[in-house]
Amino acid sequence: MPEKNNSFSPLPPWPRTDYCGNLRATDAGREVALWGWVATRRDHGGLVFIDLRDREGIVQLVFNPAHDADAHLVASAARSEYYVAVKGAVVMRREGTVNAELPTGEIEIAVTAAEVLNPSNAPPFPIGGAENTAEEVRLKYRYLDLRRDGMQRNLRRRHQALRGARDYLDANGFIEIETPILFRATPEGARDYLVPSRVNPGKFYALPQSPQLLKQILMVGGFDRYYQIARCFRDEDLRANRQPEFSQIDIEMTGPRPEDIYAMAEGMMASIYKFALGVELARPFPRMPYAEAIERFGSDKPDLRFGLELKNLTAAFAGTAFKVFADVLARGEAIYALALPAECQLSRRELDELIESIKSRQGLGLAWVKINADGWQGPVAKFINDDERKRVVEAAGLHIGDTLLMVAGTPGKVCPLLGDVRLQLGTKFNLRDDAALKFLWVVDFPLFDYSDEEKRLVSVNHPFTAPNPADLALLDSRPLDARALAYDMVLNGQEMGGGSIRIHNAELQLKVFELLGIPRDEAAAKFGFLLDALGYGAPPHGGIAFGVDRIAMMVCGTDSLRDVMAFPKTQKAVDPMSGAPSEVDPRQLRELSIKVAL
Ligand code: ASP
Repeated sequence: MPEKNNSFSPLPPWPRTDYCGNLRATDAGREVALWGWVATRRDHGGLVFIDLRDREGIVQLVFNPAHDADAHLVASAARSEYYVAVKGAVVMRREGTVNAELPTGEIEIAVTAAEVLNPSNAPPFPIGGAENTAEEVRLKYRYLDLRRDGMQRNLRRRHQALRGARDYLDANGFIEIETPILFRATPEGARDYLVPSRVNPGKFYALPQSPQLLKQILMVGGFDRYYQIARCFRDEDLRANRQPEFSQIDIEMTGPRPEDIYAMAEGMMASIYKFALGVELARPFPRMPYAEAIERFGSDKPDLRFGLELKNLTAAFAGTAFKVFADVLARGEAIYALALPAECQLSRRELDELIESIKSRQGLGLAWVKINADGWQGPVAKFINDDERKRVVEAAGLHIGDTLLMVAGTPGKVCPLLGDVRLQLGTKFNLRDDAALKFLWVVDFPLFDYSDEEKRLVSVNHPFTAPNPADLALLDSRPLDARALAYDMVLNGQEMGGGSIRIHNAELQLKVFELLGIPRDEAAAKFGFLLDALGYGAPPHGGIAFGVDRIAMMVCGTDSLRDVMAFPKTQKAVDPMSGAPSEVDPRQLRELSIKVAL
């Protein structure tokens, strides 16, 4: 074997002077010592070239048998992903061999000593071409996948983003406090992960869905401003871009008005973008009431990178003789539309497909008309009279060449549907300004929603969200009309974070629980500790939490969560590398008083 040293020594034969990827022409003449992985090896008969990779990048090594025969032997035997240590001189590359693509491309290392610190099995995929490898395989060999440029860059950018957050929060008097992972269920609307307690047989901890109650209690406990990069666990069916565990930048303040939260959160986001990308964000971010976001964009997280807003045509069609619309209006429902401009036209077939998909998914009809210079065209055009046409042109801001896509029904169904169609068309016609960072606060969320499934009121945010004081009286009469002091930060159509001013009064909290169908005794059993705490001079408080993974995806420009997490799980909540979740020893189960009934 050419490896001179015994590869069992855990101590490298010499200290490293530099990272491979940091060397530049200005280092020419220096003697350096490097460690790294063999990325590629080219044997030119006499000379052997190796691209050596470490976290900073790649540098070219040249092994000349005339310089050091032993080192040359090491190079000849080295293979992909061997971990080697080398010593040598930084030399300028000869003209014509400079590689302008590589930051280190002007220089190379004339190696004088080399040792293999650890050989490698043949990697299951080339590190450079890992993008073309099935994700399951990359996750199984995540340690190899992590050596890739892209993963190295993403995790470092994530680190910078978190530095930006910590730096800002620290400078603004927020104290980082850790809260327990073994706790009890916090209702954030998902299923809990449970952990059996060995010493309390039959009892379980719940992993926190968020540190919501603990951060509120920290305000009662006098810390005034808290933050934490908190791990949260939600046992949900994994949709794309959901992970069973994820991180939040979790924040709570004593006595804020929503404006104080907005200003603080914008400052933090600006610091994140500055640290991660060196970009200055324009502030303050615009704000939009929830009702307006639904009305104009059919979404509580509108993507403002393009227009194509929804148009409310309910008034324009008042008194129409067109039976389909007249019936809808008679039921007090509404008619909304999208006006597709001339340059974004759908073919008849595409229109038919859209109509079909809306019908099969939502059971609603879509009617379209094309606004031609010589009149309106389309299956329903003949039902719309001249007066209505005038009003519709005005309400929808129509131009010659536009196609109007109209849907009638309850706004609660129609607006989100058209909101989805809007996003699809935005993608199809490439309407988004990809470089734009369209931040937005969506404010004035409703406090409650009605769950048809559960036949009761449910919290839109969570049960600890304060009602807007102006709407307190509505709690008894029309709770669904009460607004919450809740807000979301949205970027390019994605929710980056959300929070609220909290209820700090035990009586009001009990009342909200009751409206949610949680009677006093159940509230006392589940949340007695919170209600007790509120009873001891709890100050008004409020906060917000941001999805770290979302932020990382945005600053890394990727649309997969798995690209910004070191060890993500698959859609089936499995870690292919370790095989978690796994069966456990029957003895462990006995100790936990657990029987598996499969
Ligand atoms: N606990 C909330 C969440 O996880 C955030 C908050 O209200 O601060 O969404």
